[in-house]
Amino acid sequence: MKTYTIAVLPGDGIGPEVIAAAEHVLETVAERYGIRFALERFPIGAAAVAAAGDPLPGQTRAAVTRADAVLLGAVGDPSLDQAPRHLKPETGLLALRALLGVFANLRPVSVHPALAARSPLKPERLRGVNVLIVRELTGGLYYGEPRGREASRAVNTLVYTTVEVERVARLAFAAARRRRGLVTSVDKANVLEVSQLWRDTVTRVGREYSDVRLEHLYVDTAAMRLVAEPAAFDVILTENMFGDILSDEAAVLAGSLGLLPSASLGAGPGVFEPIHGSAPDIAGRGVANPIGAIASVALLLRHGLGLGAAAAAVDRAIGDTLVAGARTRDIAGAGETVLGTWEMGERIAEAVRRAEREVRNEGSSAHSAPPIPHSALE
Ligand code: NAD
Repeated sequence: MKTYTIAVLPGDGIGPEVIAAAEHVLETVAERYGIRFALERFPIGAAAVAAAGDPLPGQTRAAVTRADAVLLGAVGDPSLDQAPRHLKPETGLLALRALLGVFANLRPVSVHPALAARSPLKPERLRGVNVLIVRELTGGLYYGEPRGREASRAVNTLVYTTVEVERVARLAFAAARRRRGLVTSVDKANVLEVSQLWRDTVTRVGREYSDVRLEHLYVDTAAMRLVAEPAAFDVILTENMFGDILSDEAAVLAGSLGLLPSASLGAGPGVFEPIHGSAPDIAGRGVANPIGAIASVALLLRHGLGLGAAAAAVDRAIGDTLVAGARTRDIAGAGETVLGTWEMGERIAEAVRRAEREVRNEGSSAHSAPPIPHSALE
């Protein structure tokens, strides 16, 4: 039996709490499906600065490069906000992405009907919302050189090459082909040369996918439409900084940052993590919502390891648990019983046992959401 090695990086704040719940679900998947996971824990972020003086220490680097997939909690510690760049927790995250070459960040956003009342948008606007944001992750403003800060002047640089745009565009088109067949590419081509290159390149790649419709939107219009008519989107393809902002905006639709997962993919091991940060305001109290981390486990199984049926069982278990009324504090309405992080993880792990049987009985439909083809990741 193959053993899948998963490098687990709990990180900071609520990271270790939500990751403990996610590991519990992975262990249940292992038991139900007869799969072996070797879960190996390593530090990242502020925890790694404290332990090794480096937000991505050598042992963590070595572990992630030899793993089959990486499961990450969150990084960030406000006490290090004024630290030099090489000691900031976020530097560890950027270095991890660069090290593994995970150039595409996928954030699926849907609104569970049981939680529609938690969203700030009217229920009729939320009907049918199912968006996949594909964000370029290793280029653009966050990595551009030169960069620098003087007393009264600072510089960051926005650079994209056609190769960087082509590979992430291919992934977005491949994903759209498996969904509703629409790519919305978001840029600022009326102002930025980089965006003009982006638009031209995406248009050219789009010709290879004649079965997928392509539309272009300026980022300001996209931001508006995301809340005005979110159900109109299928796949949103965009660059690093626009994607960072739009994906947090989209997260609001779901009702809580704690619900949403992400997958960062490249040719090597993928990084799977909830979209939220270390939430220092609630850390250490066992109240964080682990669903984003557990849904990231589903993405890890599907896109990281190609275990579609197990992924489908985890997704179904999350849905069933919400339908049964389980709520953490961030998604609880007045009078609803509130579960802690670990209890919510336990409920979902129990539901995996039932979901595994149902998915098995449904046969091939368990693979209804296949992985992105590997050819799109090279
Ligand atoms: P955050 O996502 O940590 O928290 C924003 C708000 O959402 C807080 O009120 C928090 O309590 C709530 N929240 C977040 N996750 C939750 C969960 N699972 N359950 C319930 N409530 C949840 O964002 P922030 O406060 O802007 O940032 C805190 C730190 O995290 C900063 O240091 C930041 O740099 C870092 N950060 C890291 C990542 C990452 O690791 N990928 C992403 C975003 C922010």
